[in-house]
Amino acid sequence: MSENAIPELEKKIENVVVIGSGPAAWSAAIYAARAAFAPVVFEGAFSGENQEAGTLPMGQLATTTEVENYPGFPTGDLATYLTSALGDERSAYLPPEALESGVRRAIFGPALVELMRRQAENFGARIVSEDVVSVDFSQRPFRLTGSDGETVWARSVIVATGASARWLGLPSETRFKNRGVGSCAVCDGALPRFRNRPIVVVGGGDSAVEDAEYLAKFASKVYLVHRRDALRASKILARRAEANPKIEFVWNRVPEEILGTDEAGVTGVRLASVVGEPTLELEASGVFIAIGHRPNVAFLGGQLELTENGFIKRTVPFRTETSVAGVFVAGDVADERYRQAIVAAASGSCAALDAERFLATSDE
Ligand code: NAP
Repeated sequence: MSENAIPELEKKIENVVVIGSGPAAWSAAIYAARAAFAPVVFEGAFSGENQEAGTLPMGQLATTTEVENYPGFPTGDLATYLTSALGDERSAYLPPEALESGVRRAIFGPALVELMRRQAENFGARIVSEDVVSVDFSQRPFRLTGSDGETVWARSVIVATGASARWLGLPSETRFKNRGVGSCAVCDGALPRFRNRPIVVVGGGDSAVEDAEYLAKFASKVYLVHRRDALRASKILARRAEANPKIEFVWNRVPEEILGTDEAGVTGVRLASVVGEPTLELEASGVFIAIGHRPNVAFLGGQLELTENGFIKRTVPFRTETSVAGVFVAGDVADERYRQAIVAAASGSCAALDAERFLATSDE
């Protein structure tokens, strides 16, 4: 008898299990809950391991500040709405600025994703604060094992595990992680070590520019180091950074070594030139790496087909089916192109609708 073929009496098979806790996951959960499937959502664990890997629950939105491009949340005084929608317990997870009343702001990323979580819960989603550490998709019902060792069986699964920050891969980067080297400006930027001292941000996309802008609030100066001589970031963000007197662009360079000592952590960075200039050393109290993201697929143990860049492959164009019937995908873990919260949320709803159709026609 295979491991998935459990005795009938012990079977508690869920209709829909969602893995993840960003906009794709919550939107999938809202749709599945409203379709009366009472989905189980593995939102992830608040563990040191996840902290280190950048895979804490609530996804990348939880590491941002104001989100200006999510439709439905124009700038305004959102404090009363947030506290009444979220209640005291979940409001406590938000940065204090997000709840300041009498101030007009765009919605904060952590607040936006908390609202989504609350909405899913309101419709009956059951939330498990554990990671899924392994899966068996070889036959139905699918078997999922949580970080607490518990097993859950599911008729359908929606994978919405998102993506996490990429690193340069330098030994000195590893040596100084959390001692001046970081990937989450919003999480770490206000730490005393960065106050009124220079900081380096590496990258040329929206994340790098946004991080530079945020860090400029605390630092004496922010060097934005990019490997080309033009930004990839969107015009509106790029223009803001260019107009910020504290941000200096350092073009055509990549970090060769992050400099520091055991006592002080990061003290600077040595930059190689990609156009044949001599190396350049900059003094800095921190180096923030903002060079993109990689999809979170390790727990799948190779059981879903991936694209050549390691994202989960959608086997039907514009839909959410994967290489295993009954397993659907949503959000950044399958998105090599758009990687926007609104796109992730939309794909989550599609995955739930696809799962619903699958369950209606599947005889298991
Ligand atoms: P990204 O757009 O992929 O940009 C990554 C940047 O890092 C690029 O400039 C790239 O250089 C550089 N890079 C990559 N590998 C590198 C390496 N090994 N060494 C040095 N530089 C390296 O990633 P992102 O900025 O994280 O943005 C991801 C997605 O999220 C995008 O779709 C973006 O629009 C979205 N996003 C949106 C917002 C917003 O709308 N407010 C905020 C953040 C992110 P090249 O340019 O040479 O390739």
